[in-house]
Amino acid sequence: MSMIEFRQTTKRFGAHTVLHPLDLGIESGEVAVIIGPSGSGKSTMLRCINVLETISDGDLRVDDISVLGASRDVRRIRLEAGMVFQQFNLFPNLTAIQNVMFGPIRARGRSKAEAREIAAALLQKVGLAERMNHYPSQLSGGQQQRVAIARALAVEPKVMLFDEPTSALDPELRQEVLKVMQTLATEGMTMVVVTHEMSFAKKVGSRLLFLDAGHVVHDGNPVDLLSAPPSERFRDFLQHID
Ligand code: ADP
Ligand code: MG
Repeated sequence: MSMIEFRQTTKRFGAHTVLHPLDLGIESGEVAVIIGPSGSGKSTMLRCINVLETISDGDLRVDDISVLGASRDVRRIRLEAGMVFQQFNLFPNLTAIQNVMFGPIRARGRSKAEAREIAAALLQKVGLAERMNHYPSQLSGGQQQRVAIARALAVEPKVMLFDEPTSALDPELRQEVLKVMQTLATEGMTMVVVTHEMSFAKKVGSRLLFLDAGHVVHDGNPVDLLSAPPSERFRDFLQHID
């Protein structure tokens, strides 16, 4: 049983097929990095996993729960798959710790005291112990993204999905976010990461998927794929990032 299993998964928007029938298993503990041109379906793939989009055909299972199941199943999948977006999407009127406490209270039914303890530990883990009572507007982009990671972790997911988590950040702030992600990977978290950070893909990724026009064109070891690009299309793509 894979942690995430695509079975002939298809996604269409009207007449436009954005994800062609996809068969793919992502195993527990894997760090799958997804790259590909803009519009190739990377975000859609992530959004189908945590049921922000409804698949059009086939099946998609997270920890053996189908995205096509009852609403109770969909709720379970959303608890199991935490998501971090390019734009951090923090609640602007809540402090860092209040942002992180929200999930444990609302989604896991924790008491306020329990949630505060969980949130404080996670903010410490992402290096923000000193910034717990700051509002998002008082934090840098890199700090906000680390709060967003803590917030996703606070719900105790089994899988973390990252959609270009460093793309909105200035280059000097990217490393602090990538470092937190690397730590998570080292701890064994199952991760699916859409990113253009090839050094992260090489160093942290256990697997690299190249998506093009809704097809997974390459799927393999990041170091192997990046050192010997197997297609013209992939070579061309690599030459044009950054
Ligand atoms: P990527 O993340 O690789 O840039 P996306 O998954 O965001 O690509 O989008 C893939 C394709 O699906 C694009 O052509 C995009 O325009 C289309 N698309 C995404 N979301 C919607 C939507 N809600 N309605 C219609 N088309 C969409
Ligand atoms: Mg995208």
